[in-house]
Amino acid sequence: MTPLKLTMLSREALNDNTVNMAFAVSSEQPFVVIAGQFLRLHFTQDDGLETFRSYSVASIFPEEKTTLDQIDIAVSWVPGGLATERLSQMQVGDQLEATGPYGRFCLLPDRHERYFLIATGTGVTPYRAMLNEIELRLQAGSEFYVVMGAQDATGLLYEADFVAMEQRYEGFHYVPCLSRQQRDKPGPNDQSGYVQQYLAQHEFDAENDITYLCGNPNMVDDAYQLLKDKGLPVPLIKREKYVSPPIRKK
Ligand SMILES: Cc1cc2nc3c(=O)[nH]c(=O)nc-3n(C[C@H](O)[C@H](O)[C@H](O)COP(=O)(O)OP(=O)(O)OC[C@H]3O[C@@H](n4cnc5c(N)ncnc54)[C@H](O)[C@@H]3O)c2cc1C
Repeated sequence: MTPLKLTMLSREALNDNTVNMAFAVSSEQPFVVIAGQFLRLHFTQDDGLETFRSYSVASIFPEEKTTLDQIDIAVSWVPGGLATERLSQMQVGDQLEATGPYGRFCLLPDRHERYFLIATGTGVTPYRAMLNEIELRLQAGSEFYVVMGAQDATGLLYEADFVAMEQRYEGFHYVPCLSRQQRDKPGPNDQSGYVQQYLAQHEFDAENDITYLCGNPNMVDDAYQLLKDKGLPVPLIKREKYVSPPIRKK
């Protein structure tokens, strides 16, 4: 796969620990991507070995499958992390190689009655990418729950985009689950605790529901077990764990 070239356009703080980075994409072939997919950004370790880190495309896609010449990613800083160090040092105009798109964490062609899109942290970005396709499915009668886990309200990334959708569609529910600190003025659906505690209150229906889990691997594992115990078959629990690849050694 010929690498894509990404040129940094901007970096903006989303909170103390997370930034939105925008890049121009140049590639030999048109960069065709489906909402929910990710890229691998290439880095060279201090010992000279090539490695990569994966980042979901966070831009709101005009259509579910589209050609993009510019992308946003949301990067959560990890102390001592390789990508963290490199991406935080980049300046506007600096370039980076990437490959992709990769992944099948996308809305399936079949329309389901109820969608539970569950995330922690930057794991919410694939759902932001899907917003226009979500709107089409809302118009066709589906119901959506975006269940977003964070320690406090500063972790509710891109909240305005989800709140705007909730204000326009009765069938769209944005459910922030705050595990450490509640808001002084809670939103209409704010929950106290982990996303798993919210999911535990629901009954799921294998005929009509589909669930997506994205972000912190512990959340993904716990929620996966919970949903299976509640009777959802494995193909109806789609997962994307935000983990780093093993450290490459010579
Ligand atoms: C498919 C996929 C999509 C992803 N999308 C995104 C995305 O959109 N945004 C994003 O920010 N990340 C995303 N990730 C995670 C990302 O690829 C990196 O793993 C992460 O940014 C850390 O990279 P790093 O090089 O800074 O840290 P590393 O050098 O990889 O890690 C440094 C140390 O921190 C530990 N560590 C790694 N991640 C965490 C963490 N989250 N919390 C605590 N400790 C950690 C590592 O085990 C290691 O010991 C995704 C991962 C996958 C597999």
